[in-house]
Amino acid sequence: MSVNLQTPIDYLKGVGPNRADLLRKELGIHTYQDLLNLFPNRYIDRTRYYKINQLQRNNADVQIIGKITAFKEVAQKRGKRLVATFQDDTGTMELVWFRGQKWIKENLKINTPYVAFGKTNWFSGKFNMPHPDLELLADHEKNLRVGMQPIYPSTEKLSNKGISNRVMSKIMQQLFIESQGKFVETLSDNLLSELKLISKKEALLNIHFPKNLELLSRAQFRLKFEELFYIQLQLILKNLIHKSKIKGFPFEKVDSYFNTFFSTYLPFELTNAQKRVLKEIRADLGSNAQMNRLLQGDVGSGKTIVAFMSMLIALDNGFQACLMAPTEILSVQHYNGLLELSKNLNIRIEILTGSTKTSKRKKIHEALENGELQILIGTHALLEDKVKFKNLGLAIIDEQHRFGVAQRSKLWKKGPPQSSHWEEAKSIRKKYMTARPSTYKLLKELQVENKKNSTQSESILWECLKNKKLGFKFRRQHIIDEFIADFVNLEKNVIIEIDGGYHNTIEQKEADALRTQILNEIGFKVIRFTNEQVIGDIDNVLRYITNYLESLPSGEISGAHIPPHVLVMTATPIPRTLAMSVYGDLDISIIDELPPGRKSIKTVHRYDNNRLNVFKFIRDEISKGRQIYIVYPLIQESSAMDYKDLMDGYESISRDFPMPEYQISIVHGKMKPADKEFEMQRFIKGETQIMVATTVIEVGVNVPNASVMIIESAERFGLSQLHQLRGRVGRGAEQSYCILMTSHKLSSDSKTRLETMVRTNDGFEIAEVDLRLRGPGDIMGTQQSGVLNLKIADIIKDNDILQSARHYAKKTLHNDPSLTSKENEAILNTYISLGKYKNIWNYIS
Ligand code: ADP
Ligand code: MG
Repeated sequence: MSVNLQTPIDYLKGVGPNRADLLRKELGIHTYQDLLNLFPNRYIDRTRYYKINQLQRNNADVQIIGKITAFKEVAQKRGKRLVATFQDDTGTMELVWFRGQKWIKENLKINTPYVAFGKTNWFSGKFNMPHPDLELLADHEKNLRVGMQPIYPSTEKLSNKGISNRVMSKIMQQLFIESQGKFVETLSDNLLSELKLISKKEALLNIHFPKNLELLSRAQFRLKFEELFYIQLQLILKNLIHKSKIKGFPFEKVDSYFNTFFSTYLPFELTNAQKRVLKEIRADLGSNAQMNRLLQGDVGSGKTIVAFMSMLIALDNGFQACLMAPTEILSVQHYNGLLELSKNLNIRIEILTGSTKTSKRKKIHEALENGELQILIGTHALLEDKVKFKNLGLAIIDEQHRFGVAQRSKLWKKGPPQSSHWEEAKSIRKKYMTARPSTYKLLKELQVENKKNSTQSESILWECLKNKKLGFKFRRQHIIDEFIADFVNLEKNVIIEIDGGYHNTIEQKEADALRTQILNEIGFKVIRFTNEQVIGDIDNVLRYITNYLESLPSGEISGAHIPPHVLVMTATPIPRTLAMSVYGDLDISIIDELPPGRKSIKTVHRYDNNRLNVFKFIRDEISKGRQIYIVYPLIQESSAMDYKDLMDGYESISRDFPMPEYQISIVHGKMKPADKEFEMQRFIKGETQIMVATTVIEVGVNVPNASVMIIESAERFGLSQLHQLRGRVGRGAEQSYCILMTSHKLSSDSKTRLETMVRTNDGFEIAEVDLRLRGPGDIMGTQQSGVLNLKIADIIKDNDILQSARHYAKKTLHNDPSLTSKENEAILNTYISLGKYKNIWNYIS
């Protein structure tokens, strides 16, 4: 009988309440399972013993056999330290303790052979080893010794409280003794044999007590694969569920708008990448599922025309399309661009932004609702409730990271209600008690688990809802189709959800939006409250619920909105590796090719004392009719220093480039939007030759005649920002330049950034370097996703294992979508338990 791995860690022999508390607080270890998954950071060769005269000044962990010959106490700033002289036949060194000195002096034996293990330091002419692991040589020889000694993650507090690495190893040994090394297999036989993986049992044994190097690396491989496999499985499942559950309008035909444009008005031949991406989009639009696609392409790669042609497909099928951009300037640019592209097609396009006049706005609202207006472009203004489409079929979002998930899901709701789903909804609703057979067992288990772990706010609300206290009958933790709803009223088809703190994460918000959408489709309304709302003002919450329910007629199914297809465009490339983990549930298209004939931007790095040459270069370019950007860092919107730099720079440039010969624009974040717009327009129209700006111009501005980008204090910018800024030039036919100005003081990371910029124009390559420099934590979108909490795999270094894990996760689901075959029993069970205990199955409950 193997032990239950969910047993609290307190029960393990040798742990006890104090240590258990520390393990929980310091390492998040609550159960046997958690302990088992605490993988060593590294291993040390313990077959080797060093002599004192062999020690090197490399701070490595070593073990030495020797004797303590004397103790002395040395006073220091605060308290004192205990120093022991440690000696072997080649020399002496010191062992040092800053704490626990009394116990050590009383318990350690003088002139008796010990094995000392730890890191050595070189300090005032001698080696010393602070807080060594000491073991009597006699005991050491009796103990079972493994060649590779695991070193576990630790914290200062743990080692201060005596949970040394040796103690950790002992505890781990005890875990293996109690469980007799019996661990359930978590992968299928097929995968094990196809990939020649060692069993779970063998992998766990060898990760903690490696028999030899080969078994250690096989254990590492197997566990990394498993970890990445389940993440990919989850992401792919989410994608599949999305596809099967969220209906989209099938855009079956490609008709005159598209064909006329393609055959007659296409202004240039599409690149192969553009053609490929369009094909991918067309396939999505033609299927029955809602498209949810991310389109990545470097600045200037030609995403706009792809967006436009996708819109034409929507129009061909009688639907409207919209394009949302993060700023007014960008919206205007898109508007002008699309007007130009569509000029011979007789399409009605309008733009709606914050500054659209009320009278115009009214007309747009009207034309949108009666369907005369086919394409609407704009800013956040598109999201306002007043903006109602007759039949929005495709929503395109430019520069994705500027918009939140909440905004994206708001767009979803702009789709028209669809009566054809009502019949289906009724029948699904009838079956609410019987979720799909394949998932029912799973849901039942989750349900029990949920009830056991209900939160305070859930209990509070339940007290007020049960027994028809509000006059409505509610059920708790109720299974509906594939979900467990917190509270349900089946007369009015209303679901009440309480969101815990983790609902703030991006992933969870997306999962929530998806779930709400599916529930809407099958006829349920969903209201959500946060923990704080319930605990803070339960009366208000109850009032809201009562009013809401009373306002609804009984037994009627609300009309679901079919969401438009969604295409998100971004010019910030995310390294493929990361995209796979962060956006693994979205479909991704990549334009990895620039239009032909584009001259690549020449990038150089210049020091501040070369400024005169740089100014001469600017003068030459202006005399050729070109325009120049000069950008200053504005790292913090409020930093007075940064503004001073900007204004000083502006003044000195004004002196070197005097009016009336030269005209200069300036744009920064403290200006009023109208003033900014005015200055931008002067530059766009070519009335000014130089644009002095902060990073407000970073996104998307298109002035083809601007051919020089000068970035001041370039060492202060991140790589992706530098790349974005550089992308403002190189848009016309002329050779363009990017000049990175810095002082001589550069950190090694800054140097790498500058060198990378000078070396390459490839956004994906730059993104990879950025990922290596900053780690995944700082890259957009990763903060809340699981990739940072990996236990053993490394998102950067284990890229090939990741690829393979994704491949096999896809294959497994392809052959057995519900994972219900006998073969995949282990996988399904593991997946369920991961969902139960780690909340990764956030989409379901
Ligand atoms: P981005 O991907 O940055 O949005 P745009 O769509 O603005 O890029 O395209 C940049 C420029 O390249 C535009 O002037 C556009 O007309 C042009 N362009 C796009 N595709 C092609 C192509 N296949 N051949 C030639 N020029 C193209
Ligand atoms: Mg663009």
